[in-house]
Amino acid sequence: MIPYGRQDISEEDIEAVVSVLRSDFLTQGPVIPAFEEAVAKYCGVLKGVAVNSATSALHIACIALDVGPGDLVWTSPITFVASANCALYCGASIDFVDIDPLTYNMSVDALRVKLESAAQNGKLPKVVIPVHLAGQPCEMAPIKELAERYGFKIIEDASHAIGSKYRGEYVGNCRYSDITVFSFHPVKIITTGEGGMAVTNDLKLANKLTRLRSHGITRAPQEMTRIPDGPWYYQQIELGFNYRMSDIQAALGLSQISRLNEFLAKRYSIAKKYDELLSNTFLKTPLQHVDSCSSWHLYIVRIKREEIRFTHKDIFERLRNFGIFVNLHYIPIYRHPYFAAMGFHHENFPESESYYSEAITLPIYPGLQENQQLEVIKRIRAPTGHQNLF
Ligand SMILES: *Cc1c(COP(=O)(O)O)cnc(C)c1O
Repeated sequence: MIPYGRQDISEEDIEAVVSVLRSDFLTQGPVIPAFEEAVAKYCGVLKGVAVNSATSALHIACIALDVGPGDLVWTSPITFVASANCALYCGASIDFVDIDPLTYNMSVDALRVKLESAAQNGKLPKVVIPVHLAGQPCEMAPIKELAERYGFKIIEDASHAIGSKYRGEYVGNCRYSDITVFSFHPVKIITTGEGGMAVTNDLKLANKLTRLRSHGITRAPQEMTRIPDGPWYYQQIELGFNYRMSDIQAALGLSQISRLNEFLAKRYSIAKKYDELLSNTFLKTPLQHVDSCSSWHLYIVRIKREEIRFTHKDIFERLRNFGIFVNLHYIPIYRHPYFAAMGFHHENFPESESYYSEAITLPIYPGLQENQQLEVIKRIRAPTGHQNLF
C-alpha cells in the first residue's frame, strides 16, 4: 500500500527520544524551550509556544486574540475541521470565504467582497484564519491590508506549511499575521507524534499563550495580583488548559527540524516529477503562485471532468484497489452534518464545490521511492491497467 503521506523517522530521531527517556524530565524539561527556539529561529519569528496539537494551538490563539461569544471568525471551507472548530470552542460563530480557483486557498477577491457587505451589516469578523493549503502560502500581503482596513486579526493556519516561503521569507515569520500555527502530526512535514506550535512576534501574546497551555497559571510575580506567599507560590489568573507538549515529543521535533531542509528537497523533487509526467493529461497539476515556494505537504491534482469518462469516485476506487491510497483534502467544512446544521448553503461556495468534485491528493512524502511514484503515475494515467481509457 502506498499512503498519501508518511513520517520519516531516522535512527538519530529515535536516539534523541531515547535520551529524554533516560533523563530527569519527561515533560516541562529543557527540550521544549530548545525546540521552540529552533522553530522560531528557522521561521524568523520571536517566540514559539509548543503545545500538544495544532488544534490546541488554534484554540488558545483564538482565546489570546479575545475571540468569544458574539464574535465571528472566518476561514476557508477547504481545510481540516480544526481550522473552524477553534472558533466554536470559544463560543464564537464560524463563516467561510470561498477559495481561489487557481491556488485553492482562501480567495482574496471573495474575502474583499464578503468584508464589504459585512461592514454594511455590522458583521465583521474578529479573526480571519487563512490556511496555506498543501503548503502553498496564501496571498498574505493583501489579506493583511484588508485586516488593517477592517480591523480584524489574523491567525495563519500553517499546519501544512513549515518551510514554505512567501515573497522570499519563511511562513511563520508573522510579518502578515498576529499568530501562526504549525502541526506536527505524523502526516505533516515534521512530526512530534502529536504536537503543534503557535509562533508570534508579540511578547504579550506569547506570554498569554504560554499561560493558556498550562491551566492559566503564572509563576511570574509581575503577573500576580498580590505579593507571593512564599517560594512555592503560583497563581491561576485565567482559565487555561493542559495543552502541554512533552519533552519526549519535543526531542523528536528538535531532531526532525534539523532534517527539515532535506525533507523539503525530497518533496520538491517528487512534486517536479509529477508536474512533468502528469502534464498534458486529463489532470490539472497544482499551480505554484509566483510569490511563493511550497513545502509540498500535499500534491493535489484536479481532474478535467469534461475529458474523462470515469467519475471522480471511480478514480478513487480504482486507485485504492491498486493499493494507491489517494485522498481528498478536504471535504468542504460546511458539508459536514455538524456545520450543515448551522445553515450554510453550497451555492455560496461555487469554487469549493467544483474543487470537491475534482480534487485528488497523490502520495508525496520523503520516503516515497521513485519506482513507487512511477507506479502511481502509471496507474493514475490509466487506472484500469489499460492505456488511453480516459
Ligand atoms: C492537521 C491540521 C490541523 C490539526 O492539526 P493537529 O496537530 O492534528 O491538531 C489543523 N489545520 C490543518 C489545515 C491541518 O492540516
